[in-house]
Amino acid sequence: MEKKGGKPEKTKFQVLVIGAGAAGTTAAYFLAKAGVDVLLLERGPYPGSKNMSGGAVYSLPTRELVPDFWLEAPVERVLVDQQYWLMTETSAVKLGFSSVDFDNPPYNKFSVLRAAFDRWYASKAVEAGAKLWSGCKAESLLFDGRQVIGARVSGTVNDDILADITILAEGANPLLAEQAGLIKKAEAKNYSLYVKQLFHLPENLINERFHLKGRQGSVIGLLGDNTAGLIGTGSIYTFREHIGINTGISVKTLAEKKVNLSDIIDRVNHHPAIDPLLREGTLVEYLAHMIPEGGFNAIPSMVFNGAVIIGDAAGLVNGTHGLSLAMYSGKYAADTAVEALEKGKYSRKVLKAYRDRLENSFVLKDLRDNRKVPALYSENPKLYEDYIKLVNQVAFEVAAVFPVSRREKRKLIESRAFNAKSAGKMLLDLYKVIKVIR
Ligand SMILES: Cc1cc2nc3c(=O)[nH]c(=O)nc-3n(C[C@H](O)[C@H](O)[C@H](O)COP(=O)(O)OP(=O)(O)OC[C@H]3O[C@@H](n4cnc5c(N)ncnc54)[C@H](O)[C@@H]3O)c2cc1C
Repeated sequence: MEKKGGKPEKTKFQVLVIGAGAAGTTAAYFLAKAGVDVLLLERGPYPGSKNMSGGAVYSLPTRELVPDFWLEAPVERVLVDQQYWLMTETSAVKLGFSSVDFDNPPYNKFSVLRAAFDRWYASKAVEAGAKLWSGCKAESLLFDGRQVIGARVSGTVNDDILADITILAEGANPLLAEQAGLIKKAEAKNYSLYVKQLFHLPENLINERFHLKGRQGSVIGLLGDNTAGLIGTGSIYTFREHIGINTGISVKTLAEKKVNLSDIIDRVNHHPAIDPLLREGTLVEYLAHMIPEGGFNAIPSMVFNGAVIIGDAAGLVNGTHGLSLAMYSGKYAADTAVEALEKGKYSRKVLKAYRDRLENSFVLKDLRDNRKVPALYSENPKLYEDYIKLVNQVAFEVAAVFPVSRREKRKLIESRAFNAKSAGKMLLDLYKVIKVIR
């Protein structure tokens, strides 16, 4: 590693990858494996230092790229328990599925902390032959006419770095591509702002509170009161000695309603279903990050003369599921770059094979299938809140013991439910949801 502000050993590479997150590191790893002279740039002091996930790594898609990665990657817990909590201010309807079958290879998902996971992953790319410059930021793209030919960098190295192909893997905030006019400025409606709080607790206490054994883990999706009824979601993840709580709200909603996210986070921590899980925990990290949640319709152009955009920078996120989409986009960008280098041609027309690969994979197929979901949320902001309240109310009545006959109780519950919403309105809402997700 060159010292701060130094001149690099060389300034021309076959491929320059900007950003050592899941997408960029995957691209660098596969390029290096194919014998390409590739430079991976990371503005943080080390890969992962600026990155954040809930976070689960999904085993089946990831092992296609890095077989049996769990044997060496710093995974925290094997997630065997998945729950969803539909929350009001005082209650929660809890749905879940647990299976110890998920605790056998090839597993289903693992909880990971990005600071450790990304650092390990980047070390794989370096092992394969990629050059990694950490603490080095790409300030702007370099052009020869309309052809991207590299980037001006600063930090541990100050220089103009040239490359036949530049892969932009900047993450959720694609400033370089925006500045260069390759894509339009990001719109608030397509982003959510997430805060992740990480609490330290002894491993045995986490196991006790979540009813877990050994290294098994739990993930809980939160909906409803955890976002104070605003458009957004949340989750709780168990790590070996930590519990992570994520709370995310649409950036547009935050701006319009002038809400302070920290007030909502306070509310989450004190919710009667969550507070007992955190008791005696020490808050050790408080992180904020955006997720591009605009879905298929918000995906920008991804292919240019001499450059492609991958991962979050290209909006390749489905809900909060982004790591495997980022990794696959990195792999497809690498495959396309290898072909282009063989041809010695780096035009948009040649690099379009990257987009074609994405189109033929689960990445764009899935995003295309779900393209109406973001609008369902934004156009029906009350949909989830209303039904979550209703489900909790009905659950309350079912659980409560009244001095009446069962028939009377059933009638009481029905009348409460249909008072809250007419059967016609419920059918209409159900139709809307089915139309979008089918
Ligand atoms: C709260 C939260 C929970 C999530 N939970 C999950 C989950 O459970 N599972 C899942 O699959 N996905 C999850 N995601 C989404 C997932 O984290 C992202 O989709 C994934 O990290 C995208 O990878 P990426 O490489 O595109 O971007 P990032 O991982 O963000 O990496 C971008 C990298 O580029 C670097 N960089 C940026 N600009 C420059 C520059 N100019 N010069 C040099 N370096 C630069 C950054 O420092 C960073 O290292 C979650 C996201 C959030 C915010």
